[in-house]
Amino acid sequence: MTHSRPSVIAIDGSAASGKSTVAAKLADWLGYLYFDTGVMYRAVTWAVLNRGIDVDDEAAVSQVAETLAIRVLPDGPADGRQYTVLADGQDVTWEIRTPEVEAAIGRVSSYPRVRAALTEQQRQIAAGGSIVMVGRDIGTVVLPNADLKIFMRASAEERARRRFREKQALGKPANYQQILEAIIERDRQDAEKPISPMIPAPDAVIIDTDNLTVEQVVERVKQLITARETSPS
Ligand code: C5P
Repeated sequence: MTHSRPSVIAIDGSAASGKSTVAAKLADWLGYLYFDTGVMYRAVTWAVLNRGIDVDDEAAVSQVAETLAIRVLPDGPADGRQYTVLADGQDVTWEIRTPEVEAAIGRVSSYPRVRAALTEQQRQIAAGGSIVMVGRDIGTVVLPNADLKIFMRASAEERARRRFREKQALGKPANYQQILEAIIERDRQDAEKPISPMIPAPDAVIIDTDNLTVEQVVERVKQLITARETSPS
C-alpha cells in the first residue's frame, strides 16, 4: 500500500532561515505552486507607510489589510526578482523589502484583523492543493491539516551572513552588523507576538540549517516526501 504524494506542504521558519529558497526549489521539483505569505504582510505594511497611516492605528491598518488587492505573479522584469508582487495593481516587488517596511512589519502583523484577512486569502490560495506555502504560522494556523510540515531553523549569525551575501550578489549596499541587528529585532518581535507566535507545529519536522547548504536541505525534504509516498499505511 502506498501513500499519495503530499499535496499541501507548509514550510515555516525565521527571517532568512533559507525557507523561501528551499520552498521555491521544492515547488519547482514537484511542479507545485510556490507561495510566500511574507509578501502579503510586507505589501500591507508598504501600503500603510505609503499612505501615511500611523502603524499604531490598529483600525486603519486593519482596514488596509482587508481591502488591499495583493497579487503575486510568477515572472516580471529580469532584475533578480523571483516573482512580481502587485499591491492594488502597483509593482511593489522591491519596495516591500526596504528597512522601513521591516521596521514596521512586526507591529502590522501583530493585529488580529490583519492576520485574519491574510490567513483567509492564504487558505483560498492553498485550497486547490499542489502547493508549497511558506511563512511563520502556516503549519500551526493557516494550514493545520497540511500533509507535510517543515520548520527551518538557523542561528541569527548564519542568517545575517546569508542575507549579506544575497544583497552583495544583487549589487545592493550591505552592512553585516545592521543586517544582524535587524534579524535579532525581528526574531524578538516574531517570538513575542501574542497571536501566531513563531513556533513549530507539534507534527512539524524540524531542520537545523546552520551547517547545511540549500541543496542539502532540499535533498532532505525530498527524502521526506519520498518516504511518505512509499511508507506503509
Ligand atoms: O518571511 P518574511 O521575512 O518575508 O516575513 C516578513 C514578516 O512578515 C515577518 O517578520 C513576520 O512579521 C510577518 N509574517 C507573519 N506571518 C507569516 C509570514 C510573515 O507574521 N505567515
